[in-house]
Amino acid sequence: MVLRDFFIGLSQNELLNSAAKRYGLKLGAQSVVAGTNIPEVIESIRELNAHGISCTVDNLGEFVNSREEATEAKNQILELIDAIHESGVDAHISLKPSQLGLDIDREFCHDNLREIVARAYEYNMHINIDMEDYARLQPSFDLLEALSQDYNNVGTVIQAYFFRAEEDIKKFKDYRLRIVKGAYKEPAEVAYQDKADIDQNFIQLIEYHLLNGKFTSIATHDHNVINHVKQFVKNNNIPNEKFEFQMLYGFRKDLQLELAREGYNFTTYVPFGNDWYGYFMRRLAERPQNLNLVVKQVFNKKTNTMIGLAAGAFLAGRLTKRNKNNYRR
Ligand SMILES: Cc1cc2nc3c(=O)[nH]c(=O)nc-3n(C[C@H](O)[C@H](O)[C@H](O)COP(=O)(O)OP(=O)(O)OC[C@H]3O[C@@H](n4cnc5c(N)ncnc54)[C@H](O)[C@@H]3O)c2cc1C
Repeated sequence: MVLRDFFIGLSQNELLNSAAKRYGLKLGAQSVVAGTNIPEVIESIRELNAHGISCTVDNLGEFVNSREEATEAKNQILELIDAIHESGVDAHISLKPSQLGLDIDREFCHDNLREIVARAYEYNMHINIDMEDYARLQPSFDLLEALSQDYNNVGTVIQAYFFRAEEDIKKFKDYRLRIVKGAYKEPAEVAYQDKADIDQNFIQLIEYHLLNGKFTSIATHDHNVINHVKQFVKNNNIPNEKFEFQMLYGFRKDLQLELAREGYNFTTYVPFGNDWYGYFMRRLAERPQNLNLVVKQVFNKKTNTMIGLAAGAFLAGRLTKRNKNNYRR
């Protein structure tokens, strides 16, 4: 738990994020981020497609604080959509509303997203609205509802750690949904904290959507959940066209290939771009064993500096927080 908090803390550090952007794909991130530009990511998609794996592509972007940055992100995603279409690879888009200006102005974010969904619609391409933290949950559902009045190529994510997930999945059962455990640190007022509770809710939500929903993306690296789903679809005669498994690029590659070989629909979530830092820290928070990706780089001098900087910033953040809390008290 301490390690999880540590990496979540690092993922939220804007200073380190901008340093990492300048620094390039390092700290082991290159094994879980598929390149820094569109030609590189198209090449990575092609390789996965050759194994019968489809892709959902995330043009990484965090800490968008201005309209200019949000507009730039929108233009990059439009360029990516065109490139996917023109290259003929099998892929769709995952994006985060905060990247398109959700925290700046909701109307502005809606307009950006609408432009993206409209462009993808022309190519019959799906757009997935990734789910971020609790504060952005309802605003993201609102965006989904507004856009789906005019377009049917948009879906979103249900995070099993939220108490309200069951209500949300029932409301949005006619959408293509990705179901996940949830990646952010959320308070006990709104989210299960215990792994067993999250896992149990995860299974229940998956089963509900498989039986009642439009199309289910089961996004997990957890083989226990995957095996459970395999048995559940068999017992309930749910055809392969109704669901897929999803995993993140670079994780459990053997299992990804195995599921695709077994004939299940499989989609790899493929992040790319310079803004890899927050994404990478969240992956370390989920599974500290992912640190072995970092450890391989540990003799690199620059990396050591980076880790030192990160640890220092985290501790400084903790101290400041403690002082602030003292002040409040
Ligand atoms: C495609 C995709 C999209 C996602 N989108 C979102 C999103 O929009 N919003 C959001 O909040 N979260 C998202 N997530 C993250 C998700 O919420 C979880 O935080 C993350 O997937 C970790 O949970 P898990 O289900 O993979 O299994 P965990 O609970 O991390 O692991 C369960 C068990 O699986 C095994 N395992 C897990 N990883 C590995 C590995 N690398 N190697 C070997 N064994 C392993 C271990 O036995 C482990 O104990 C996404 C995840 C995926 C895969």
